[in-house]
Amino acid sequence: MSDSRPLPDVDRAAASRRAVAARRERAALKRDVAMRVITPQELLRRALADPSSPAGAMRVPEFLTAIPAIGAGKRDRILTELGISPVKRLGGLGVRQRHDLFRFLDRRWPEPIPRSGRSRLLVLAGPTAVGKGTVSAAVKRNHPEILLSTSATTRPPRPGEVDGEHYYFVDDAAFDSLIADGALLEHATVHNKYRYGTPRRPIEEALSEGRTVLLEIDLQGARQVREAEPTASLVFLLPPSWDELVDRLVGRGTEDDEERSRRLRTAKRELAAQNEFDHFVVNDDVDAAAARVAALAR
Ligand code: 5GP
Repeated sequence: MSDSRPLPDVDRAAASRRAVAARRERAALKRDVAMRVITPQELLRRALADPSSPAGAMRVPEFLTAIPAIGAGKRDRILTELGISPVKRLGGLGVRQRHDLFRFLDRRWPEPIPRSGRSRLLVLAGPTAVGKGTVSAAVKRNHPEILLSTSATTRPPRPGEVDGEHYYFVDDAAFDSLIADGALLEHATVHNKYRYGTPRRPIEEALSEGRTVLLEIDLQGARQVREAEPTASLVFLLPPSWDELVDRLVGRGTEDDEERSRRLRTAKRELAAQNEFDHFVVNDDVDAAAARVAALAR
């Protein structure tokens, strides 16, 4: 027996709340793809794994235009080329269409291939505010067999920071001598302000004793380590989502609009550097992320 009575108001209100929530979730996923927090392939995999999820309910044209570098014109050409109707949802793609769409994405935007080799020199980097410091502190706490390198810096200590433990706090002249003596494996000026560098000696000693070493440094430093030590493993720490990173970056809301957009631009640029990395760890839970980093050690 069919029931054609209109929905009662309460049901209708609940349905519309659900629709709004689903739309919001789809929008958040599109931001994740646009900002490279996840790859388009990853979104497609989530959609196919659960067609009734927000990813599964996303229409293919919406998905395509979330990808950096695809505008309306390109989107329409791709749909025609792949023979996919613009009303199609990701979760409802046929076997052939899925295959063709994956192939198309892999050709244009190959996913970074995690390197299988393990190294005893791990470099942890990632966008500002993703939580590198917290994760590396958890590695130090939970995996004492791993040496967390202590950097030298020209930044003055913050309350509670101990010289020789959190950093070696040095002045500009002393930092210059460290460079001149070749005592630093890498060094960089971070946030256009203070200089930071990794002392070479303790790392070489630990490695020669067979220990694993973890460096928690910025992107410029990670690139220099790659040059100096091509066998190092570069680990990129990712936020669980773009929205979460934005919350962590500007959460306190104490910055003005200009500072806020400057930070967001920086984060976007930093995320775009992830193709240079060997391994990816999502910081959804600090101890779990630390365990995943430690597991990358040889
Ligand atoms: P903070 O001043 O907040 O402790 O650190 C600021 C930034 O400096 C962080 O992004 C951290 O990763 C980076 N950093 C800390 N030590 C080093 C280092 O030895 N070399 C480089 N290149 N960056 C570092």
